Amino acid sequence: MSDPLEELRAALGDAALVTEPAAKEPYRRDRALDPRPGMPLAVVLPETTAEVQAVMRWASAHGVPVTPRGAGTGLSGGATAIEGGVVLSTERMRAVRVDAATRMAVVQPGLLNAEVKAAVAAQGLWYPPDPASFEICTIGGNAATNAGGLCCVKYGVTADYILGAEVVLADGRAVRVGGPRLKDVAGLSMLKLFVGSEGTLGVITELTLRLLPAPPPARTVVAWFDDTERASAAVFAIASRIRPSMLEYMDRTAIGAVEDVLGMGLHRDAAALVVARSDDQHPDGAEVASMLGAFTDHGAFETFEAADQSEGERFAHARRIAIPAVERLGPLLLEDVGVPIPLLAELVAGVEEIARAREVTIAFIAHAGDGNTHPLIVYDPEDTALTERAHLAYGEVMDLAIRLGGTITGEHGVGRLKRPWLVEQIGDDLLEVSHRVKRALDPQGILNPGTIFAADSAASDDSAAPDEGAHTR
Ligand SMILES: Cc1cc2nc3c(=O)[nH]c(=O)nc-3n(C[C@H](O)[C@H](O)[C@H](O)COP(=O)(O)OP(=O)(O)OC[C@H]3O[C@@H](n4cnc5c(N)ncnc54)[C@H](O)[C@@H]3O)c2cc1C
Repeated sequence: MSDPLEELRAALGDAALVTEPAAKEPYRRDRALDPRPGMPLAVVLPETTAEVQAVMRWASAHGVPVTPRGAGTGLSGGATAIEGGVVLSTERMRAVRVDAATRMAVVQPGLLNAEVKAAVAAQGLWYPPDPASFEICTIGGNAATNAGGLCCVKYGVTADYILGAEVVLADGRAVRVGGPRLKDVAGLSMLKLFVGSEGTLGVITELTLRLLPAPPPARTVVAWFDDTERASAAVFAIASRIRPSMLEYMDRTAIGAVEDVLGMGLHRDAAALVVARSDDQHPDGAEVASMLGAFTDHGAFETFEAADQSEGERFAHARRIAIPAVERLGPLLLEDVGVPIPLLAELVAGVEEIARAREVTIAFIAHAGDGNTHPLIVYDPEDTALTERAHLAYGEVMDLAIRLGGTITGEHGVGRLKRPWLVEQIGDDLLEVSHRVKRALDPQGILNPGTIFAADSAASDDSAAPDEGAHTR
């Protein structure tokens, strides 16, 4: 019997197929560092939609699982390789075409977010969504997770900038959803179904992006608190009065970790740092005054406007590098929970209580203006008892978010790691409907099995059964 991989090699060419174990190793996991990833048969590196179609036709003929992959910066285990499957990396799909007249760009998925931003900036335009990882993550990964970021509090998330997508389905057909039209309501809203589907419904091979004129200059305001509750209350006060273009939060542990890296003179003993921006161009500067006032009214022990763009950018950068900085304390169980903004203080207090009760370190950073937070639970794989407590805390934080009417994931996606909590989040009926959609588009269950849906869920509704390596309830 012929080796099925030889068929794939014949279709794509030698250079597009990685089979050597050491070369496959970097493609097995994303930044969530799933402890037990599978070893794929091969990593495939297509360049065109036609090549992605060839991969999917082959995979569907042979029943081989396919893990779509951008840059592997995902934080929910959504790009974990499957034993005996193939990883489909978009790293060679890097074309970009900008149409300044219509303020749109057509891009292949493997381009980094920062490269998209740079290509459109060269024509005086702006692609706003800015995950803190924008220099290392792909636009395809952003679309597949519906990524958020720092400016999303004012400018919206990835889905708000996607007008159209080309998607290769499990059976190898390529469909176009939406397109270069600002208004288009023909048929069901399928575009939003694929955006955020984490590689479980199709492989995104092209995106049509909506662009804005170049961003206006922003002013940055910094506030230090010795009490997290007051900091959260200040965030709520600002969010309810104005539309800041950034409203970010870090707690003491995160501040200390960032200061260890940058040495920029952050107050290590502060309980919380809030970094806010306004790009309102009104000459009276009322938004900046309003933010400074809110910080003072809520007891900030220090608040000031950054002297210039570069000082403002230093504080934004400090917030952006918080995850890698805290990673230096040890491996992380990364949360992405969100709550309605009025409940931010309750979430912060609840997470602090969980950290105390479980005796674990939890650094707390947040896109606070969105109510989207990242409690970062530090553990040590060598310390079994600590690791167990960290996993219990991981679940308790999600339980807390659900109890507060929030979400288990605001921007990173369910992936494999949060799947056991999905049913509680969305309920049995919606989960069952989601399974029907999955089965309709991927009846064999070959697209990213284990992500959002249990690996064998093409035939069942069991989303709570964890895979090997997933954190369990
Ligand atoms: C330091 C750091 C900071 C971060 N900050 C943020 C932040 O502020 N906001 C935020 O939202 N995220 C953030 N992230 C998470 C991560 O960068 C995003 O989820 C990003 O969108 C993932 O892009 P990627 O190219 O790395 O995708 P991957 O990790 O490779 O994949 C992510 C998911 O998308 C699927 N996928 C990838 N490409 C395709 C495709 N072409 N078609 C179909 N499915 C596909 C994968 O199967 C997987 O399920 C951060 C990560 C790090 C490490």
